Formats: sequence, structure tokens, C-alpha cells
Amino acid sequence: MSYARVLCVGLVGVTGHLVEVEADLAPGLPAVVISGLPDTALHEARDRVRAAVVNSGQRWPNRRITLNLLPATLPKFGSAFDLAIAVALLGGSGELPLLPLDGVAVLGELGLDGAVRPVRGVLPMVAAAAQAGVRRVIVPAGNAAEAAVVPGVLVRGVDTLHRLVSFVRDGAPLIEPPADDPPPAVTGPDLAEVAGQGVGRRALELAAAGGHHLALIGPPGAGKTMLAERLPSILPQLEDDAALEVTALHSIAGLLPAAGRLIRRPPFQAPHHTATVSSIVGGGSGLARPGAISLAHRGVLFLDEAPEFSKAALEALRQPLERGRVLLSRSRGAAEYPAGAQLVLAANPCPCANPAGDDRCECAPLARRRYLGRLSGPLLDRIDLQVRLQPMRAAELMETAAPESSVLVAARVVEARQTAARRWAELGRRLNAEIPGPDLRRLPWRLPGRDTAELRTRLDSGSLSARGFDRVIRLAWTIADLDGRARPDKEDIGEAIVLRTGEAA
Ligand SMILES: [Zn+2]
Repeated sequence: MSYARVLCVGLVGVTGHLVEVEADLAPGLPAVVISGLPDTALHEARDRVRAAVVNSGQRWPNRRITLNLLPATLPKFGSAFDLAIAVALLGGSGELPLLPLDGVAVLGELGLDGAVRPVRGVLPMVAAAAQAGVRRVIVPAGNAAEAAVVPGVLVRGVDTLHRLVSFVRDGAPLIEPPADDPPPAVTGPDLAEVAGQGVGRRALELAAAGGHHLALIGPPGAGKTMLAERLPSILPQLEDDAALEVTALHSIAGLLPAAGRLIRRPPFQAPHHTATVSSIVGGGSGLARPGAISLAHRGVLFLDEAPEFSKAALEALRQPLERGRVLLSRSRGAAEYPAGAQLVLAANPCPCANPAGDDRCECAPLARRRYLGRLSGPLLDRIDLQVRLQPMRAAELMETAAPESSVLVAARVVEARQTAARRWAELGRRLNAEIPGPDLRRLPWRLPGRDTAELRTRLDSGSLSARGFDRVIRLAWTIADLDGRARPDKEDIGEAIVLRTGEAA
């Protein structure tokens, strides 16, 4: 027999596709030819596989070897094909009877010594295999736990090519995934730890309930970071599909903890203001790494000291935030990752960042305007909630009433989200922040003129843009939902104006 075939999985973006690795061995000058759109890493696979096979004590077939990865049209990235290539060519040379690998997908990178190394993206690969009807997978031992998260698939791990060869030849045991301990209780920062901060807490709750992007503007020590870090604690836990999607992105980034569980808590990503554009939006050669905006998908992307980020980084965020997806152009094809993160910006009101706040600011008015102005073009325009925070007063810290915990606030958030989802169902939308302006302005959702009088005055005088008008209305709906009113009244709109324009005292 001089032909063999082994199943593997390739990733394009977050989507896995079954790949067949074919090996054909023919008489002729010893050589290895790989076809089927391989990238550079795949060419390197040839050298890795040869060394691994020889160093595992197997005979390297001195024949003309043709390896073909199907479907040929699918772009293939990364090193997860090594193991399948190795067993396919051992099968093709007649060294290894491949019957035990019938219908089994085989994933893993080979070291020169024959060790099987973990690869990125095993979770979405195994999920795709399962969806294609594959019931058994063999993965690097280091990825076995995350692979076992996928339901309906029998997962076994391998640490060396030798172990896999022994399994195929003699039925020697493979490595079982670690036992699934009960998940630890979800812990993280809690709103119970935040004293005072009435305006900030209200803004955070509204952001969670309506899905609004949020800007927190205030001097150092006003609690901006404390608040932002607690937004995930009042967002609903991720449901199965969302959890699988988020966990897959972290798998592709190689960031899953060894325990390999589904990520249930909305993620929180806080890139530093010196972060490069590619670390924020994603990129890199081979299998593209998701950036912070994709790792924050269905969670929170927090930009602390937002005006200090490079213009290029802020600009690069604009489109992904609008589309909920990020497109990474590559030398061959393009990778697309989900990027539906909720944005929280924090900024000092001015470059001097005086902890005492505006009273002690030494900056010239022009410098103050310019500082926040760095945000206004690309991002601030998309943010429904722009809140001014004041320095904490001693009185607030001495308040005797214990602050509400995240669990209590989260319960209100869930209820408000359900109300909104019911209302917008006929538009196919769920969150107030997603509703297009024209829908807000038409019946049956148009608000009565007597309640929007102030808004229209501001629009006419030019102190509010048309887009700003819609944003105030969206926010007013969230206020009404949270407070249990069927539709926003004049007071809700008044509060929304204050929260939108940062006029809060
Ligand atoms: Zn200043």
C-alpha cells in the first residue's frame, strides 16, 4: 500500500474546517512535495516531520512522497497539521496500519525530537470536527482539557509521536483528559467594594442594562478603574453558544488556562496605552492572534488613560466597534474575528491630572480641550454615556450603609435587558444601544413632543448633534427600563442629557 489518508482540522478565523491529509509514496528520487495551499509554517512542517519520525525510531521512506492537504482551496495556517502528516506518510509507506485512525481527527505540532506540542485553537478545531460528524479526536496532551469541553467527542491526548505509533500499532493507551472538577465559584471584583460613587455606579448600571459604551472622565483617584473592572460582574453570564465562542477566541490566542473550562464570565481586557495596534486589533503571521478587542468579545474592553493611546490605535478600533467584527488583512486571504466588545474609556479631564480635580487644575483651557479632543473624532462620538466623576469626598467614604453588591445590581440589569429584548424583538434586536436612530424616531417608539422639547431646543441651537439626539433617546429608554417605566418620561430624558453630555455636577 502506498497511499494513506488522515483527518485533521484547519482554522479560518474562528471557523474550523475538516482537512484531509493525503500521502502518496511512489518510486523515484527521494523527495517530499506538499501541495494544497500551504503557508510557510507548513513547509517547515516537512523538516519537523522528518526529524520527528526518525527520532521516534521509525524508518523514513526513501521514496518520492507527495503530501496533499484537501480541500486545496482552503487557506491553511499554523503547525497543527504535523502529526496528521507524520502518521499519513507512515501509513502510506506501509509501516503503520491506519485502521485505528479511521474517522479520527489528529491534531498537533511535532518537535524535532518527536514530542507533540500544544497548538493554538484546539477548541474551535474540535468543535468543527464534532459538527462535521467526527466522534473521536487525538490532540496534544497539553490541549486535552480544552478539547474535552466540546460535547459529544471522545478526546485522547498524546505527548509523543512514539505514543501515537504504539497506539496505532499495538493498541497502547493514549492519555485521558484531566478529570473535570466542579468549576470554582466565579470570583472577581465586586461592586460591594465601591463606596460612594453615586453617579459612577448609576452610569455603570445603565451601561450594563442597555449595552452602552461608557466614558468615565475624572481626576486620578475618582475610582474610574475600580468601576470599569466591575462592569463584567453586573453583566449576564455567557450562555452556551456565547461561552463557546469566547472560549474559542481565547484558545486561538493560546490563553486558556490548563483546566480548560468554558469561559462563562464576560471577559475583561485592559490593554496598556502603549499597546501596539496589532495587540489591540490582532494580527501576526501564521494563525493570526486575536487582539484585545476580540479577547473582549461579549465582554468589556477598557482603555484606561484613553487619550494617551496612539492615534493609530484609537483609529483602528473605530470600525471593529461599529461592525462587531475585525478584519485582519493577510498576505493570503483575510482572517476575521468577532469583536463585539463593550467599550469603557477612562480619561483624566486634562494633562496635569491633578487629583484634586478641576479646582486645582493648572492647565490652559486650550490644553484641556485638546486633551479630550484626541478622543472626540474616532471614539467619543460613539459613546452614549459620558460621565464626569468627582474626586471622592471623605463623607462618601464614611457612609454607613453598605454599598450594594454586584449580584443585586446584576438582577436589575437582567430584568431591564429582558424588557428591552421584548420591545425590540420585532426589529430583531435586543439592546437599546443597538437600535438605529430612524427606528427610535418613528411610531410606535417616537416619544411625545412635550417630553423631548429640551432636546429639540438643543438640536436647533446646535449644542447637540443629530447623532447626540439619538444617543440621549437610547439612554433614556434604558433609564426607563431599569426604573420600570413603560417608556421614558421627561425626567428620564433630562437624566440622559446630563449623562450623555458629562454635565453631571
Ligand atoms: Zn489640568
